[in-house]
Amino acid sequence: MSEAATATAQAPSTKKTVELVIERQDGPDGAPYKEEFVVDYVPGMNVIACLQAIQRNPVNKAGKPVAPVTWESNCLEEVCGACMMVINGRPRQACSALVDQLEQPIHLKPARTFPVVRDLVVDRSRMFEALKKVKAWIPIDGTYDLGPGPRMPEVDRQWAYELSRCFTCGACVEACPNVNDKTEFMGAFAISQARLFNAHPTGAMHRAERLEALMGPGGIQECGNAQNCVQVCPKGIPLTTSIAAMNRQVTYHAIGAWLKK
Ligand code: SF4
Repeated sequence: MSEAATATAQAPSTKKTVELVIERQDGPDGAPYKEEFVVDYVPGMNVIACLQAIQRNPVNKAGKPVAPVTWESNCLEEVCGACMMVINGRPRQACSALVDQLEQPIHLKPARTFPVVRDLVVDRSRMFEALKKVKAWIPIDGTYDLGPGPRMPEVDRQWAYELSRCFTCGACVEACPNVNDKTEFMGAFAISQARLFNAHPTGAMHRAERLEALMGPGGIQECGNAQNCVQVCPKGIPLTTSIAAMNRQVTYHAIGAWLKK
């Protein structure tokens, strides 16, 4: 080999890379373990792009072929909520987590408030159960044309729109110290959705039932006012304002029920 060729062969690679440490789990009952990966850097890439690179070439940092990392994603524009995971210690959407803005190695973990299905995929059923509990919907009478619905005053529509942006990602649940295996606390998002649907002229039909649900097991009384939820919500939903508003509604509802006795 010529001198120049030897020098080229020994020159350190100048290719920019991204280092990741991923907390993996092979199944719901498996033990968590950490695995390191290195992927090629692409300008503007997000965490999902890193996971896609690992999927294309599932080899860990030590060069050992491994099972591809499993994760969940869909819209890739912070609308569906599916790719919520813990990135460098903070629950957030992987699609909007840009590599350029993250410290490396990038640590990825599943949101362990929820049961882990595999690797970064979690089962968020408890959120949908909570939404069912607070009847987070507007009842309709059949599917035929009912004509225009009741109008909301603009001043209410504006804040209600903010609450309607919740996409059930679960970041607020993951960040809340009061959601754990010792409590049934439904989480700030469900309280906020109860406020949203109570404010709607038709949704108000179920107002009392929603308030009863918030007064029951796992209800608003289990909020410890840690206020982590509002810090991590990617939609900037005023969750603590919703909790305060629903505390008032629940209190008036309880006093009203007591006076009727
Ligand atoms: S309130 Fe915010 S953090 Fe919580 S589930 Fe909805 S969008 Fe996600």
